[in-house]
Amino acid sequence: EALSKILDIKGSIRLFCRIRPNLIEEKRRISEPVSTGPEKIRVKLGGTRKDFEFDKVFTQEASQGYVFVEVEPILRSAMDGHNVCVFAYGQTGTGKTFTMDGTNEQPGIIPRALEELFRQASLDNSSSFSFSMSMLEVYMGNLRDLLVPRPSSKPHESSTKCNLNIQTDPKGLIEIEGLSEVQISDYAKAKWWYNKGRRFRSTSWTNVNEASSRSHCLTRIIIYRRGDALEAKSEISKLWMIDLGGSERLLKTGARGLTLDEGRAINLSLSALADVVAALKRKRGHVPYRQVFLILCYFACRNSKLTQILKDSLGYGSKVLMLVHISPSEEDVCETICSLNFAKRAR
Ligand code: ADP
Ligand code: MG
Repeated sequence: EALSKILDIKGSIRLFCRIRPNLIEEKRRISEPVSTGPEKIRVKLGGTRKDFEFDKVFTQEASQGYVFVEVEPILRSAMDGHNVCVFAYGQTGTGKTFTMDGTNEQPGIIPRALEELFRQASLDNSSSFSFSMSMLEVYMGNLRDLLVPRPSSKPHESSTKCNLNIQTDPKGLIEIEGLSEVQISDYAKAKWWYNKGRRFRSTSWTNVNEASSRSHCLTRIIIYRRGDALEAKSEISKLWMIDLGGSERLLKTGARGLTLDEGRAINLSLSALADVVAALKRKRGHVPYRQVFLILCYFACRNSKLTQILKDSLGYGSKVLMLVHISPSEEDVCETICSLNFAKRAR
């Protein structure tokens, strides 16, 4: 029956692709395997060319502000009551964290989204909004609270110490036991908490790059909306903004550096995915690729508990924005094709 539940996933997905600008050492080389169009990525490999379609492609010159303009409509959906998941997907070093967090000078999607939520709330005369925020990190099946870390939650210590439990309530809503949820009354507060979570994430690991390639960082905003009618009940929606672990570690067996447990979990996911696709074929006579892609998102993350956490956010009426990040570099071209192929299943 787990399978039939998954078949009921409905929702809509938008697929964007962002290519990282060349790094200084890459600039010296001549070959440019990847070229971009407004909705297309073309990769040259050997004598062949492959094209990949997206809803939107961001070139190397695309600014953070320009990217955010395209992301903003989905935030409005979240304010309108839809559950929303924004994922940054891609190989390590392709700019996922740059897109989601950005820098002080070039803030990314999360700080801009926080600002935008309060702006939109202040413009809306017919409902009143309140927001709460949580941040957590998922690493090898363990969950860590990033906003109110426990004293002993060092990642290299016995992992059970920082593990939070996931519960499903009778209504099917997911509850992460013990995860702190802070009320954010304005943008300044939100930003303060967000910076705190980010700081904790980056200072608590001995090797930040290694850690961020293996862990997922999740920021959750719960939106409470109340209409102005007296009897109006408060409506709740969730906005997730997720900086995924490096894709070279997901959906791939036999990758170097994978631990046995990781490899096993990924293998399991892949065979489950094959089952889902086969079942869809039998049931519908064709494979609805958008849906398969959602399922794929689901399974891609299975080894790290994301499946369970996002279960009630990827359901009916939810909206997903998948931002696929790729490298412009010749030496990453195989991984680039892997990421683009992953995205292709959605079309
Ligand atoms: P990831 O999180 O996918 O591992 P990062 O976000 O850490 O990758 O990006 C790797 C490096 O490339 C960082 O130094 C980052 O600042 C830089 N970078 C990535 N994307 C961009 C971009 N669009 N513009 C400028 N610098 C970028
Ligand atoms: Mg990163």
